[in-house]
Amino acid sequence: MTTTRFPKRLIDRFGRTVDYLRISITDRCDFRCVYCMAEEMTFLPRDEILSLEEIYLLASIFVELGVTKIRITGGEPLVRKGALELLQKIGALAGLRELVMTTNGSQLLATAPILKVANVKRINISLDTLDSQKFKSITRTGNLQQVLDGIDAARHTGFERIKLNAVILKNRNHDEVIDLVQFAIDKQIDISFIEEMPLGVVGKHDRAEAYYSSDVIRADLAKRFTLIPSPQKTGGPSDYYHIPNTQTQVGFISPHSHNFCSTCNRVRLTVEGRLLLCLGNEHSIDLKTMIRLPNATSDTIKQAIIDAMAIKPEKHEFNIKEQPVILRYMNMTGG
Ligand code: SAM
Ligand code: SF4
Repeated sequence: MTTTRFPKRLIDRFGRTVDYLRISITDRCDFRCVYCMAEEMTFLPRDEILSLEEIYLLASIFVELGVTKIRITGGEPLVRKGALELLQKIGALAGLRELVMTTNGSQLLATAPILKVANVKRINISLDTLDSQKFKSITRTGNLQQVLDGIDAARHTGFERIKLNAVILKNRNHDEVIDLVQFAIDKQIDISFIEEMPLGVVGKHDRAEAYYSSDVIRADLAKRFTLIPSPQKTGGPSDYYHIPNTQTQVGFISPHSHNFCSTCNRVRLTVEGRLLLCLGNEHSIDLKTMIRLPNATSDTIKQAIIDAMAIKPEKHEFNIKEQPVILRYMNMTGG
């Protein structure tokens, strides 16, 4: 069906253009990071999550509505059967400028070359520590060497950019920020430090106590490195710095200490098919139910997405000191 009467641009009521979609393609994961999941997780039954065909359909509709960048995430996207074929199909969508992915790196040794063929331009790989014992204690089930091998495999595959994501927790890995940056410099890749966000009930882990702000990390790093502010802007919560005489950019993702909402350009498709308008709020519409209706057409779905822009909140509502009002886990939401 042709849909030329729809605008090729999604704009919310604050005038922000939404051209970036993050899709969580699975809630499952081979790790159980303390800030992301509880130790015992119940995952969603198959019929409650979008099928690969449904994800592809929605991705193509978003691209027709002007989305130019898609990030595939999860859960761990590479543990979903059929993920590589899905990536290949999304990567071939006309109008999509950038297909990128966030992964824990555990499957990259085997999959990095296939991702490159699928047109994945950039990869974010999570790495919170270089100490194998600490890695085990933060991820509960992960193996550091497997991830380091995955990082090297990705480097040798030749993506446009590789970036490490490190969630820094006080008294757990805050003493490693300099080593992590040095590791990124040695590997000629970028690194971003993320302030923990209060998503989901994750058990014994105390978020307020573990909070370690980007400003403190920056001060720690300044003892060893010169950080030159970079003009690069992503429309997201990151501030970037360059380290002279290296190829490394250091980013700080600071949902608590720096508000980034005024330039927000993104929405998220959760694993259950909810279109989530803001990571820090529950405003959403249920696209899964809509696309499963017998009379669903690409026009009705497009109109629903355009209408949803009217409920995109102005800003997020995170509060690290309180119990989470947001019961949704990061793995369902897509970080
Ligand atoms: N499994 C993949 C990974 O770990 O990279 C992709 C999904 S994971 C949910 C995406 C990113 O969200 C990771 O970099 C992870 O460290 C981050 N993350 C998970 N829970 C978080 C939380 N509560 N606060 C801040 N970042 C979080
Ligand atoms: Fe899995 Fe990523 Fe969540 Fe860790 S942060 S449990 S790797 S989804």
